[in-house]
Amino acid sequence: MDYTTMLSKCRWLFVGCAMIGMLVVLAGCLLRPFPNVQGTAAGNELDHVNRQFYDDYIYSELELEINEQERLWAASKRGVQILIDGSPLGIVKDEEAATALLEQYKQSRLPKIGLNIAASNGSGLTNTATEASAPADKAKVRILTAAMDKEQATEQPGQLQSAEFMQHIELVQIDIEPEDIEDNDTLLDKIATGGVKPFIYTVVRGDCISCLAYKFKIDKQVIYNNNPQIRNDLIRIGEQLDLSVAQPMLTLKTVEQRISSVEVPFTTEYVEDNSLKAGVQEVVSAGIPGLLRVATNTTRIDGEFIEEAEVNQTWIRSATKAVVKKGTMIAAGMGTGQFAWPVYRAKLTSDYGSRWGGFHPGMDMVSEQSGITASDHGVVSFAGWKTGYGNCIIIDHHNGYSTLYGHLSKISVTVDDRLEKGDKIGVMGSTGNATGVHLHFEIRKGEAQENPMKYLGKAS
Ligand SMILES: [Zn+2]
Repeated sequence: MDYTTMLSKCRWLFVGCAMIGMLVVLAGCLLRPFPNVQGTAAGNELDHVNRQFYDDYIYSELELEINEQERLWAASKRGVQILIDGSPLGIVKDEEAATALLEQYKQSRLPKIGLNIAASNGSGLTNTATEASAPADKAKVRILTAAMDKEQATEQPGQLQSAEFMQHIELVQIDIEPEDIEDNDTLLDKIATGGVKPFIYTVVRGDCISCLAYKFKIDKQVIYNNNPQIRNDLIRIGEQLDLSVAQPMLTLKTVEQRISSVEVPFTTEYVEDNSLKAGVQEVVSAGIPGLLRVATNTTRIDGEFIEEAEVNQTWIRSATKAVVKKGTMIAAGMGTGQFAWPVYRAKLTSDYGSRWGGFHPGMDMVSEQSGITASDHGVVSFAGWKTGYGNCIIIDHHNGYSTLYGHLSKISVTVDDRLEKGDKIGVMGSTGNATGVHLHFEIRKGEAQENPMKYLGKAS
């Protein structure tokens, strides 16, 4: 064999070896362990590999996993002990079981302490509330079931805000024997009673309820609660009474929120208006009372009221103030309704009322100053001689009132004169039926005589 021929054969051998090598690599790729396939193969790509082979692989892996868990469980024998304020309640499988147990107790307690919870259903809501706009509505308590969704609670009226145990609860992982795990009902009962063993007492001669309460230092109410068969405090010899005093290991602090609406009165803004007569009011815009939504949190411990606090106020509708125009215009010749003394430093000499078997319809007064002034703005309606009154002036104040000034020695005004309060109208005298110099002064409201003292302040 010459060198060239040998080289040629070797080349074919080399090519053959290379091809075999490639096949091996290819096969190796196809038969790679599946975790990698799991990582990369998704959807249709999986169809490229043998589906059955893949499934078998996964199931066998799961089986291994489960066996591994059981092996670990058997090996460790771990459980969770529930401690309430440091005292052991019992042992459950794991933390999840412990949480579920405590939640179950909580849910069973809520109705007993007066927080009614809807029977478990889809929505989990009992809505006894109506719209907050009904002011008289008091019972606005809406309570959630298991899911005490705080966010939802603040959105909606009257909900249980929180329900927390007062005690410190600890969950501790410990080594156990499988039989150490206690069943739920036993543990629930232990929480409720505090593990107190039932105490059944048989009534003997001379027993009475008060005597038993005193003897065993228990509350009479506990005896009634435990023994609902008792009527009119009657117990018989030989009768069995349950005198166990349950001491629940957990107390529940609840906060419920009640929403109520409060009507807030509107305020009135008065706008003075000099185009309106004094004393006249005109509503420009009517007021609307505001409506306030008030959230009140009630805290209870095992149902017993502890406190109530207002936590939030929001306006459903703010009050709209009323605007009222208040007239300030004093028309010329129109009285203000405020009367002034018609003489300076007057001294009363005779009152309004019965006098000498008759009736004195005004008030008599004297002064060192003899000038007479108008008691209020007005227009002179009479100025002249009047029987009994002598020289007399009557001023119409155009507000329903008029004033009369009698026995004047001099009249300084004439009918239809417009007067300002305090204008001089005449001089004091003793004309008409007068026993001396004085002013007879009357105030009339329409036709009725009024007591001037009702209108005059302290003498000036
Ligand atoms: Zn008089």
